[in-house]
Amino acid sequence: MKKGRAGKFARPYRIDDGEHFRLKDIDPADTAGIDDKKAAREALEAGILALAEMQERLYAQDRRALLLIFQAMDAAGKDGAIKHVMSGVNPQGCQVYSFKAPSAEELDHDYLWRTSRSLPERGRIGIFNRSYYEEVLVVRVHPEMLERQHLPPSLVTKDIWKERYRDIRSFERYLDSNGIAVRKFFLHVSKGEQKKRFLERLDNPDKYWKFSASDARERRFWKDYMSAYEDMIRGTATPRAPWYVVPADNKWFTRVVVAAAIIDALEEMDLKFPKVDKARRTEMKAAKAELLGQKS
Ligand code: ATP
Ligand code: MG
Repeated sequence: MKKGRAGKFARPYRIDDGEHFRLKDIDPADTAGIDDKKAAREALEAGILALAEMQERLYAQDRRALLLIFQAMDAAGKDGAIKHVMSGVNPQGCQVYSFKAPSAEELDHDYLWRTSRSLPERGRIGIFNRSYYEEVLVVRVHPEMLERQHLPPSLVTKDIWKERYRDIRSFERYLDSNGIAVRKFFLHVSKGEQKKRFLERLDNPDKYWKFSASDARERRFWKDYMSAYEDMIRGTATPRAPWYVVPADNKWFTRVVVAAAIIDALEEMDLKFPKVDKARRTEMKAAKAELLGQKS
């Protein structure tokens, strides 16, 4: 995957405007006609190198930041995608946060509070493994969770999800206006593939820790989750903060698409190493002469 061409892997799955988006138009098993896994892996390796190089410039320039948000059903491959795609990046330039069920303290605040504290600094790539989008996904599928949020009853109306989409759109626009680019990934796995992966976890003692009975129970709500995802993408995909709906039944393909989308986002920033002015160059010349003049 070369820079400049990476986007072609990701573009078919990019949603800039959710108005007409339908989840059923994207097949979780899609591999864009690529059947040569080996070539795809090589492309991914090249992509990882390209990413590392651009991340260094992002860090050196120290102006922009990139926020990557990952959402998915369990076992869709979020963790693996993050691990592989970011494997070449300098850990100092990258911050990963996982958001689980909120604590009592977090529930006492507005729902953007905990994620706002974890936004990436300039020069960094921030990764959210789950995010404030849970507030229109799991909370929508299980509305009893809203009660624990202590909201004034007059604000909990049938319009709450639409209002949350609106607020999230504004928040992401605000981030973009501050130099923080936002890219969102929904790893779209099929119900059948999820079942297969759960069964693998149950058959492999090294993977037991990844399995929880509640994950399997959530499968009962599959349809509700899919319609919540579809509605969320419709309500929050914008040109400045697009969603990528990434086919996730084949992990190798998921990773290629995610890497391509990140490369694309960094390329759009046109990152350059900071220019060194004349005074600095003179200073550096003098430092070099001094170093060369020393005995050891
Ligand atoms: P993952 O499932 O992401 O790999 P995990 O299994 O290590 O991570 P879990 O303990 O399953 O972690 O935590 C994730 C759970 O937290 C998910 O079920 C998710 O729906 C829930 N969660 C995250 N954010 C919220 C929120 N704002 N409100 C309610 N539940 C949330
Ligand atoms: Mg889990």
